[in-house]
Amino acid sequence: MKRFHSRAGLAAAASLVLLAAGSASLVLLKNQTARVAAAAAIWAAAAIAIVLLAVRARHRERARQAELDRVEDRYRALIDGLPLVTWLTELGDRSTTLYVNPLIDELTGYSPAEWTEEPDLFTKLLHPEDRASVLEELDNVKNGTPVRLEYRLIARDGRVVWVREETTTARDSVGEPLFTQTFLRNIGERKRSEDERESLLAAERAAASSTAERQSRLDLLRRAGDELASTLDHQAAVQRVAELVVRDFADWCIVDVVDEGNELRRLAVARAEPRAGGGPGPDNHPESGVRAVVESGRSEVVPELRDRSSSAEPVQFIGGIEASSVICVPLRARTQALGALTVARTEPGAVYGADDLAVVEDLASRITIAADRGRLYREVEERADAARVLDHVADGILLLDRSGVVRLWNPAAEAITSIASEQVVGRAAADAIPGWQDASDSVPVSTTPDPGHDEVVIPIETERGERWISISGVQFFGGTVYAFRDLTDVRQLEEIKADFIATASHELRTPLAAVYGAAQTLLRHDFALDEVGRDRFVSLIADESERLGRIVNEILLANQLDAGRLDIQYDPFDAGDVIERVAESTRAYAPPAVSIEVNADGDLPRVAADIDKVRQVLVNLVENAIKYSPDGGRVEVGVEAHDQAIRFHVRDEGLGIDPEEQERIFEKFYRADPQMLRGVGGTGLGLYICKELVSRMGGRIWVESNEDKGSVFVFELPTADVVAHGGTGTGRLQFKK
Ligand code: ADP
Repeated sequence: MKRFHSRAGLAAAASLVLLAAGSASLVLLKNQTARVAAAAAIWAAAAIAIVLLAVRARHRERARQAELDRVEDRYRALIDGLPLVTWLTELGDRSTTLYVNPLIDELTGYSPAEWTEEPDLFTKLLHPEDRASVLEELDNVKNGTPVRLEYRLIARDGRVVWVREETTTARDSVGEPLFTQTFLRNIGERKRSEDERESLLAAERAAASSTAERQSRLDLLRRAGDELASTLDHQAAVQRVAELVVRDFADWCIVDVVDEGNELRRLAVARAEPRAGGGPGPDNHPESGVRAVVESGRSEVVPELRDRSSSAEPVQFIGGIEASSVICVPLRARTQALGALTVARTEPGAVYGADDLAVVEDLASRITIAADRGRLYREVEERADAARVLDHVADGILLLDRSGVVRLWNPAAEAITSIASEQVVGRAAADAIPGWQDASDSVPVSTTPDPGHDEVVIPIETERGERWISISGVQFFGGTVYAFRDLTDVRQLEEIKADFIATASHELRTPLAAVYGAAQTLLRHDFALDEVGRDRFVSLIADESERLGRIVNEILLANQLDAGRLDIQYDPFDAGDVIERVAESTRAYAPPAVSIEVNADGDLPRVAADIDKVRQVLVNLVENAIKYSPDGGRVEVGVEAHDQAIRFHVRDEGLGIDPEEQERIFEKFYRADPQMLRGVGGTGLGLYICKELVSRMGGRIWVESNEDKGSVFVFELPTADVVAHGGTGTGRLQFKK
């Protein structure tokens, strides 16, 4: 183009030079003809130059047009080939289409020609829901501001096509607006994937929320399980579980249980906080709906799982609660009805489904297990109490099952029979208990445990020798229970009493017979007695009466001791004096073969006791020593100080006492030789009285063997010093003023 301009300039310059040369020649040449010829030549040359120039310019113009056409064709091919609809319209006026590429057909089903011819087609194709907003938006940007919009078009075949529009104003090289250029892109694919993504997200959210819900239910079940397992107080645990239930799962939770009297009662009621609506709440009496569930053992969901249409109506299941939905599940353990668990929602439309029923049934089974465990625990406790009682009763208890096998053998039974429970429990009584086979036939067995039923006293052989037991049995559905007591000691006491009566009557009868005989002799007139004879009978009467009196006194004194009526006067005295006087008085009637001697330490502390009672004890012991020394011998009465006490003893060389009897001879009525085989009589009361008197004066008495011959009776009493300083601790001693 520059070249073209320079060449045209050269041609114009040459023309101007030629014109100037022609004009100069006109002036310079004198010859007219020459002037004309020169001018003509110059004009001709100029004309030729101008024609050449014109031809050249036209040629140039044509080439430019061809170039333009080629460019437009290329532009058109370019925009036709663009993968998006290109739509050119007059500035700000969509009704006048300048150009639209063929892709419009693919997008809308309308050809470019139809698009060009129908001015309102665009508006018509806008989706009714988007139309107003799109037009308004476009109106706002008529001034040429670039626009970006997404909206829907309805294609000819009714398809909804999502498009993205980008509109700009095309301008020329100096910035003047030429036309409006709109690109429409089909974004259906993207929208679909967006929708899909959205629905995937929604599904994910739903899944997350259902996971959260499932998690919260699992949490509820776990925490309820923990509560129920943590305590045996299932009543408190059930209340806490009800409170857990109303945190997320329900607005009300009610637990009803069947009590011991077989009555259904309300155990726990919990309500969601903040206070759920739906009525004032249930009263204390389980409703008929709950009763029906407990009786039938079948869960109830209201509204029913199959019929969800009636959920608008409030559910009338629990009085006092306007529920939108209720689940009531029975609590059952091993076919036994224990109660019911009821949950209710009050929010309108909040209806329980099958999943919720499963949760409530799970909770109910946990509560049931806890309640059942609590009941079993209580039963075990009660049985343990019963077992403890059986462990501590003094009566032996033997439980035989229906096949005669020992099921229970308590510690008292072990103690009485000396048979350990391991040796008998689980074995047949006939094999395990010696003599049971024979004895059981004579044991009375009643069918009711009424008091006062028959008992028999039978002997049994044990390691400790023969024992006498009183036994009876009661039969029940599961077997027979026998109770027995050891009557050996009672029996022995009875035997001793019987012996006492025999001995005492013998003891009484002998002096009585002597007194009677002497008196009769004295009364006989036909039988002349000299002075000496009469004295002999009178003193015999006196002696035997005294002996009778002693026996009667012993019996009376023993009675007084038993009744606690004995008065003891404490007055410190000298022990040496007392034993001297006792020895003296007993010597008077001791047989010649017996010598009575005194062995007393000098300068003894005084004794804090009742002098008469001490004398009585000593006399008893010395009389026994004489009595049980039938072959005579030495009887020593002694006293010594011994470790803050005064120790008295009476030593003889008589019959002696078997070591195993040394304890028993101090028992009431006990006599080592009840049948008087050794020919010595007595009541069995003397040593009993001695022991009681000594112990009441704060002392003690015992017997020792006197080496290989005879025995030594010893008793100790506190000294006056010790008593005055409170040393004996008996607290019973009072001194005469
Ligand atoms: P009894 O009136 O039978 O003598 P006691 O209570 O005085 O009653 O004595 C109980 C038993 O103790 C006597 O039956 C006797 O067997 C035995 N006994 C008591 N003192 C002596 C003794 N000094 N020597 C041997 N046996 C004695």
